[in-house]
Amino acid sequence: MKHILSKSNRGLLAQFAWSNVLLGFDFDGTLAPIVSSPNEARLRPRTRRLLRGVAGLYPCVVISGRAQADVSRRMSGVGILEVIGNHGSEPWASTDKLLRDVARWQPLLEEQLAPFRGVKIENKQLSVAVHYRQSRQKKLVKRAIAHAASLLGKVRVIGGKQVVNILPEGAPHKGTALERARASHGCDTAIFVGDDETDEDVFTLDQPGQLVTMRVGAKGSSAATYCLRNQDEIDALLEELTRLRRRTGARA
Ligand SMILES: [Mg+2]
Repeated sequence: MKHILSKSNRGLLAQFAWSNVLLGFDFDGTLAPIVSSPNEARLRPRTRRLLRGVAGLYPCVVISGRAQADVSRRMSGVGILEVIGNHGSEPWASTDKLLRDVARWQPLLEEQLAPFRGVKIENKQLSVAVHYRQSRQKKLVKRAIAHAASLLGKVRVIGGKQVVNILPEGAPHKGTALERARASHGCDTAIFVGDDETDEDVFTLDQPGQLVTMRVGAKGSSAATYCLRNQDEIDALLEELTRLRRRTGARA
């Protein structure tokens, strides 16, 4: 995986920055550091300040697995154009049928996972996240979650960092969401930064010249083309994006 901030790749970043580009970011592990309790996740003050500047120079969207209201609250005051939740489903894909389907999962999952300590079932209405960061029997718990999910019927299961995401089969994903946002905001190109399994739905969109994908943390099995070395480097990326657009503005 190539480092996007290395000298040799800065030209490509500049090309995209100077195009009619949409910036898309995942939240947890990308804009905000991973923390032991998901509820504590927040932007560092420096990231918040940089992102506010970037949002004034570029159209920006956040596409998160969290519920839309949850991320919106954490992004308030930043000036992001749009926050898309539930891995790309919220707000567009909300239908009574999907809400009913997901509501039906809750008691089943609770019953199956009741014997395990440190497991938290988060119902986000259009998807469910089963967190096991606090569990001491992670292997066992992962197997139990997989089994429980298999009892739910037509679902899509996406792993993640100490979490298993359960989505309705065929629901929109982050790739769908980014494409939709790019079209609806009239952009020609997009840059997307993510860090986890559900971001692979964007990373696997194959649109050379139109889309640049970056993963926080290099990983051989990821479909992202570029990487940031760690979450701290999101600040360096935001600084570089700021510098590039300021320069364009100065030239125009
Ligand atoms: Mg993430």
